[in-house]
Amino acid sequence: MLTGGIIYKNKLCIILGSEIETSEINDEGKTGSAHNLCYFPYLKDIKAFSNEMSHHIHNITLSSQRADISAYDLVDIVEKYNGVLIPAHCFTPYKSFYGNCTDRLEKIFKEKYNKIPAIELGLSSDTYLADEISELETKTFLTNSDAHSLPKIAREYNKIQVKDISFKELMKAIKNEDGRKILCNYGLDPKLGKYHRTYCEVCGKRIEGDAPVTKCDTCDSRNITMGVLDRIEIIKDKKTTKSPANRPPYVYQIPLSFIPGIGNKLMDKLLSNFETEMNILHKLSYDDIEAFCGEKIAKSIMDAKTRKF
Ligand SMILES: [Zn+2]
Ligand SMILES: [Zn+2]
Repeated sequence: MLTGGIIYKNKLCIILGSEIETSEINDEGKTGSAHNLCYFPYLKDIKAFSNEMSHHIHNITLSSQRADISAYDLVDIVEKYNGVLIPAHCFTPYKSFYGNCTDRLEKIFKEKYNKIPAIELGLSSDTYLADEISELETKTFLTNSDAHSLPKIAREYNKIQVKDISFKELMKAIKNEDGRKILCNYGLDPKLGKYHRTYCEVCGKRIEGDAPVTKCDTCDSRNITMGVLDRIEIIKDKKTTKSPANRPPYVYQIPLSFIPGIGNKLMDKLLSNFETEMNILHKLSYDDIEAFCGEKIAKSIMDAKTRKF
């Protein structure tokens, strides 16, 4: 029996969800804000949730409006409508828990921390970086793509073991129950993420060098946006990057649009022939690609696959 989710021809399950920005007090006592993914089983649940949230958000019909409550309170509202809350792009410098609010999620969620089954890693981090924080050992990692722009869907994705496609099964997988689980995370190499390293707002450049970078190496300014790598280096509490035994592999995937020589036209041709970027990146051989778009591009794609960049 399928339970929850909007299911199309038994092939595609659309999970109803909302991304809510909450108001937090950060570790320094200042205002912080964080994004939260809230997933629900049925339309009636998310409608009722939306109705309740309209008391906490002005202009609820506009996207990315900030709620006047903390995630500590939001988690109960989500639960009331049979939903699950997952901290979104957890490390990004703006609008995320570790990036903007706290060094420990437990400080935000307190005794409700166990209600959070998973976190979303975000583009500038990966499993190995996140596993340097011990409080995440029990949490599932999700690599979701950003739905704000349709062509970028599946830039990051999860391979999930479920019995059928439904909200209930997805939640079981996220909670690691009854053999359901995330089998593999696919995502960007964090080095390619926009927020991986600290950025000087004065010079307008990324600051390389040993993490953590807390000021600009050129102009000495502290007017910086802290990079994810640098932030994790500061807040981590584990000496090793060893992941818990049940952690699935993280497979790096470089979007085709990042590869030199692949413009819009070629991209359209590739996609109309091979259907998805996933096919091109993970299933085709060098010969398949070469036969279609020549030696130079085929070599670039293979280099990207083997992470020679
Ligand atoms: Zn967000
Ligand atoms: Zn500078």
